[in-house]
Amino acid sequence: MNQFNKTDLVKGDITLIYADAIVNAANSSLLGGGGVDGAIHRAGGPAILEACKKIVAAQGNCKTGNAVITTAGNLPAKFIIHTVGPVWNDGLHDEATRLANCYKNSMQLAINNQCKSIAFPNISTGIYRFPKKLAAQIAVQVVHAVLAQTKDLDKVIFVCFDEENYNYIREQLLLYI
Ligand code: ADP
Repeated sequence: MNQFNKTDLVKGDITLIYADAIVNAANSSLLGGGGVDGAIHRAGGPAILEACKKIVAAQGNCKTGNAVITTAGNLPAKFIIHTVGPVWNDGLHDEATRLANCYKNSMQLAINNQCKSIAFPNISTGIYRFPKKLAAQIAVQVVHAVLAQTKDLDKVIFVCFDEENYNYIREQLLLYI
């Protein structure tokens, strides 16, 4: 299998995805929030928040672009990878690099934990206001770059909650077919 047939696109709710790891667009406190973060904690149950609190107690808040891993609680996934996306400001504050780091670091953490499949939401494109088209370009480019360098991941699933993100990711994925 080559890197080009290792990506999937799904429209819907990431909490329902069967993947070894699903990624949460968390905030640096890891204490839960709105959007996909709220949905994951609600559906996964309290074990996820407990695990997040332990991580923060041990190593402090999670920095933008970094990722940490916890149980997935009651979700069908094995793990949740919590990554902190950048808040969009004006594009001159390293937003693109930081968003790229979210995807890279999440994939690396998945690999380090023997995951074969990972599902991503559209990190930073909600409350953090990252422009959706640019976010889609970065997400697909980075995912393909990482896939080109590893044999350890079989599948990366882009899970888009809204039509606009779905169309932008689709447009970008088509460039790799
Ligand atoms: P951020 O703070 O990183 O912007 P948000 O959760 O506000 O995080 O939004 C990130 C993306 O997650 C948005 O595109 C939003 O539509 C999407 N989203 C919200 N709920 C879900 C869900 N249950 N499954 C997948 N994606 C979701």
